[in-house]
Amino acid sequence: MPYSPSPVWHPYAHLKTQRPAPKVVSGEGPRFTLEGGETLLDATCSWWCMIHGYAHPRLVAAIREQAGELCHVMLGGLTHEPADRLARELVRVTPRGLNHVFYSDSGSVGMEVAMKMAVQYHQLRGKPGKHRLLSLMKAYHGDTAGCMAVCDPEEGMHSLFAGYLPRHLFAPAPTAPFDAEPETVAADLTALREVLERHHHEIAALLMEPLLQAAGGLNMTSPHYLRGARELCDEFDVLLVFDEVATGFGRTGRMFAADHADVSPDIMVLSKGLTGGYLGHAATLASDRIHDAFIGDSPEHAFMHGPTFMGNPLACRVALESLAVFEEEDYLGKITRLNRVLRETLLADTELAAHPAVADVRVLGATAVIEAHDATDLASVGDWAREQGVWLRPIGRWLYTMPAYVTGETDMRRIADVMKGWFQCA
Ligand SMILES: *Cc1c(COP(=O)(O)O)cnc(C)c1O
Repeated sequence: MPYSPSPVWHPYAHLKTQRPAPKVVSGEGPRFTLEGGETLLDATCSWWCMIHGYAHPRLVAAIREQAGELCHVMLGGLTHEPADRLARELVRVTPRGLNHVFYSDSGSVGMEVAMKMAVQYHQLRGKPGKHRLLSLMKAYHGDTAGCMAVCDPEEGMHSLFAGYLPRHLFAPAPTAPFDAEPETVAADLTALREVLERHHHEIAALLMEPLLQAAGGLNMTSPHYLRGARELCDEFDVLLVFDEVATGFGRTGRMFAADHADVSPDIMVLSKGLTGGYLGHAATLASDRIHDAFIGDSPEHAFMHGPTFMGNPLACRVALESLAVFEEEDYLGKITRLNRVLRETLLADTELAAHPAVADVRVLGATAVIEAHDATDLASVGDWAREQGVWLRPIGRWLYTMPAYVTGETDMRRIADVMKGWFQCA
């Protein structure tokens, strides 16, 4: 029989050069298994969402139980126990003041909700001129049109669509590292202030991935930057939106990146780790100030948004179980141990740091990246890693790991060794 390619159109794929995708048949813990029996240790936990690994018995059981009761019902005019309980839990675990939860079905839509909420907030307060957004270079906030418009306009994946997208404002990406002194962070904050001074009258919100700009190049910065940004937003009457889609649920070493700085944003978006990756869902949390601005008599006071699958009972139920496992099994402790291994194996390796192809090595929480000078330096690293039993998928010049938190120490060392091994430093 002649080979017939699958009709599945794969993400970010060059159709001319792509090879048939390996077929995954199952998974357990930090590994998945391919048709034919090959098993791969997943260094990415499936785009950073499968934080409990595959086939976690408690998460699977939660979905099964919920499926027997109620798989779906609209949230328009109705509610249900998993949606109510999860909202209360999210209010409990997120930074102080985020007391209201708007559900949607993906990180991108969660960000669309956040941006629309911010613009309407200023409209309802009689400031309709504040309808643009301020984002950072190196940002990645999703692939829908509204989100593309706030991704890095040069290096981002969306420059092709520049003519199609609304034009927003960008401040330089922060350059001070995680452990920088406040004096070092001051230059980053001055750059942010300059844009706000010039444009605050037209800016609804400053958006950022706090501490870790993920898909835009794993750029890590300081908690002082978050504190400074909070102060600047208050000074210029601009809302602060934290996109914690990637950083939320432990990735930076605390439950949320905001916790490192003890800062509350006005709006915060969660997705990826929210359901432990078991179902697509997102939550946009808002403070009382935002929520209460929508209380009023005119038809314009309603927030006109409502994805069909918002608050899906299966997703909410598995998210509740995910959070329970996270807390009961001391995941922050597990993340601390993974961080220690990543520091020892990657950050402390002077040979790796000195390698001519390596521009930088960074570690934060359960995230590590080897930044190469050139994307071509990483051209076939995925195939090579697969031969060593590890699933690695670099983004551009960045060879990274964001493992499942259930990854054991030996497996974490294995991933780090394979990453270094590509540069002959293992
Ligand atoms: C992945 C990601 C998104 C988009 O989420 P999707 O569920 O893929 O739409 C938005 N923001 C950040 C920071 C992300 O990492």
